[in-house]
Amino acid sequence: MMDKDSAAKRIHELRTVLEHHNRRYYQQDAPEISDAEYDQLMRELQDLEAVYPDDDLASSPTQRVGSAPLSRFAPFSHPQAMLSLANAFSSQEILDFDSRIRRLANQDRMDYVAEPKLDGLAVNLIYEGGFFRHGATRGDGFTGEDVTQNLKTISSMPLRIKQIESLVVPEFIEVRGEVYMEKKPFAKLNRRREENDEEPFANPRNAAAGSLRQLDPKVTARRPLNIFLYGIGTVRGIHFTSHWEILQALAQWGFPVNPLICQAEDITACIDYFGHIHSIRPGLPYEIDGVVLKVNKLSGQETLGNVSRSPRWALACKFPPEQATTLIRDILLQVGRTGTLTPVAIMEPVSVGGVMVSRATLHNEDEIIKKDIRIGDTAVIQRAGDVIPEVIKIMEAKRNGQEKIFRMPSRCPECGSEIVRLQGEAAHRCINLSCPAQIKEHIRHFASRGAMDIEGLGEKVSAQLFDAKLINDPADLYFLKKEQLLGLDRQANKSAEKLLDAIERSKTPPLDKFIFALGIRHVGEQTAKILAGHFGSMENLMKANTDDLTALNEIGPEIAQSIVEFFAEDKNRKVMGKFHLAGLSPQFHNQVTDTILKGKAFVFTGSLESMGRNDAKALVESLGGFVQSSVTGRTSYVVTGSEPGSKLDKARREGITIISEKDFLKLIGR
Ligand SMILES: [Zn+2]
Repeated sequence: MMDKDSAAKRIHELRTVLEHHNRRYYQQDAPEISDAEYDQLMRELQDLEAVYPDDDLASSPTQRVGSAPLSRFAPFSHPQAMLSLANAFSSQEILDFDSRIRRLANQDRMDYVAEPKLDGLAVNLIYEGGFFRHGATRGDGFTGEDVTQNLKTISSMPLRIKQIESLVVPEFIEVRGEVYMEKKPFAKLNRRREENDEEPFANPRNAAAGSLRQLDPKVTARRPLNIFLYGIGTVRGIHFTSHWEILQALAQWGFPVNPLICQAEDITACIDYFGHIHSIRPGLPYEIDGVVLKVNKLSGQETLGNVSRSPRWALACKFPPEQATTLIRDILLQVGRTGTLTPVAIMEPVSVGGVMVSRATLHNEDEIIKKDIRIGDTAVIQRAGDVIPEVIKIMEAKRNGQEKIFRMPSRCPECGSEIVRLQGEAAHRCINLSCPAQIKEHIRHFASRGAMDIEGLGEKVSAQLFDAKLINDPADLYFLKKEQLLGLDRQANKSAEKLLDAIERSKTPPLDKFIFALGIRHVGEQTAKILAGHFGSMENLMKANTDDLTALNEIGPEIAQSIVEFFAEDKNRKVMGKFHLAGLSPQFHNQVTDTILKGKAFVFTGSLESMGRNDAKALVESLGGFVQSSVTGRTSYVVTGSEPGSKLDKARREGITIISEKDFLKLIGR
């Protein structure tokens, strides 16, 4: 058992880490860890919080369903919150769930509905008078993103509830379901993306999420999306008594309902169902990661109610991660953008959960030593949800004495420079700034979507340009000539023009995107935004010393040091000079022109009449204030538009000043 202080420290660490992974997963569609690892961290935090509850519990990741929506789609407040489900990872936990709720409901036997758990994106569809009116992603469970137009492009989703004689069409209903992409179209989409030198999606779930959250519905329409509906929220005009009855009605109304859903008379039947679905999983056309059990009778659901973030009457039973055994042929080193060397196991190809796998990450040297992984070993590898598999353990009994111990080389495999291991880091790095592997990665990062967003300049083209000695740093891109490109294979006249156009268009990037694109260590998208907002120009940022930087709340000494070192480096200064020479001019619009709202935090809820949410945000920022996505102790004002959401209730509870749109306009003198 941990003592109180170390528990508090661990709780803090876990919350920070989970917040980070939530952002990677929900907002950037780019998870860094497997679902199984995420679940494990979440469980550790839940367990610690159960023993050591503290004041910050209410805002802990364990209390959130997902995360805040991106700002680029209009926020949508769900009429009824979309809760997430509690998880079970073993039959014992499934049995425990059953005995717990039977005790609470005072029942000898509970009947359930059992459903395959699709690995997609949860959505909420609103039908009024039988017509589809709004659709939104789950978001944080209370507020999601309004993706109505994109949802309409999914052909299997009815825009109108089918009228049949025996069934009333409800005047208002929220229908819940999952948008997903089948395995085959997913593979095809990724092949096409790789051909176009675009980043492939990590898995079908990310592909579905990325496709549904396209700002241009036309792009969504071209993506092979599907939907299954499995539940309802608020409903008016019809009364149901069981979940099974709801599913029957949904099917009759024309909603796609998964044909594998069935009734289970007790928990034993549920466990059988789990085993059956697990066995047919590889042959299913879509990815699933478990089975969901729901108490069938709605009266039973009502009695059981909710506990914090989950309904007590439902359970997500997760499949164990997929494992396989195979031979490690070799261990290679991959050089990242910042010079990090990641050892990768090259393996005899093997099928793990229906996907052929031939590489697994070994993370770092410590990990290899800890697990005693040697070249020639037979290893158990695991793939959990996402596609980067890892080595769980090696099978010592299979050794024949020929296995070779892996040693971190003293020199970089790509450039021959010295490798160092910095203090306090698990990773080894190549510190040669001219290392070709690093430069290629660096250029790829510079051009990537979250950075300068230069279309057509992915991994392959970056490497091609570098290998042909046409570019040696990102600034060289702006000096490329068409004739040079025509010399490369694959670069026909038209695509060369397209690439040069895209490069030209990137010459006036938003300041924060440019700062992020530079690839300064520890400066991610968020930090880049903070730096842009505070310094307002490249010149100011380059002049800043560590004191100027650490004066900002969000910038710690490590980040400050890294920024100062970056701009002090001779090579980087030269590259900056070249950007300038090329006419690259980062734009900064959110210039603070006034400070009447200095330090004031605003939360908006409901829709405003006189302006959109993004305009309101820009306005507040231009006056020195800032906008929060949810009500916190720091919130100064909650501005209510029409149909405000749950934020209003929270503001009332917390005693925060609530003002109307009119008051807001008065406040800022308009
Ligand atoms: Zn190197």
